Amino acid sequence: MNLILFGPPAAGKGTQAKRLVESRKMVQLSTGDMLRAAIASGSELGKKVEGVMQRGELVTDEIVIALIEERLPEAEAAGGAIFDGFPRTLAQAKALDEMLAKRGSRIDLVLRLKVDDGQLLERVAGRFAESGRPDDNPESFKVRLSAYNEQTAPLLPYYKDQGKLAELDGMGSIEDVAAGIDRALEA
Ligand code: AMP
Repeated sequence: MNLILFGPPAAGKGTQAKRLVESRKMVQLSTGDMLRAAIASGSELGKKVEGVMQRGELVTDEIVIALIEERLPEAEAAGGAIFDGFPRTLAQAKALDEMLAKRGSRIDLVLRLKVDDGQLLERVAGRFAESGRPDDNPESFKVRLSAYNEQTAPLLPYYKDQGKLAELDGMGSIEDVAAGIDRALEA
């Protein structure tokens, strides 16, 4: 089972992905986490992406596609991947379809978490105060939200046309959203 958790930044994708890792033993593939790990390690890749990420812009398709490709065998061995924060552009979505097809696999379900902008801004302000994640500052967050609306939201029709899109209210408590995800996965 390969699942994409889809939604704007701070919609709760990471939180819900971590819960699914626990309950279903799937592997979470978060390009944001991979890039933050690269920055923390001081690698060349980390140096290359640090400024772009801090500003809230997207890193290149090439970089994130390569990061995902490297991790596909591990996800396959576990029985499935939860893609979190990937794909974010049409080129990434098409590359993912091709990489999976080559391995005799596919995306089974795209779960869209719907949260309105007002609540996203509230959540991210709280997260910034707590963790100080640099791209959660209000200015970068605005850029991230525009990147989502302009480059990522257009993927919705792509997956809808493939009959893979399920939409879910992401505004409730973590437990309510988790229950909605479980229902969608059982359906
Ligand atoms: P996230 O943790 O998913 O919110 O990602 C944090 C930041 O990492 C984003 O604002 C981008 O700068 C970068 N990033 C993560 N995933 C991608 C992706 N699939 N495509 C491009 N940039 C990404």
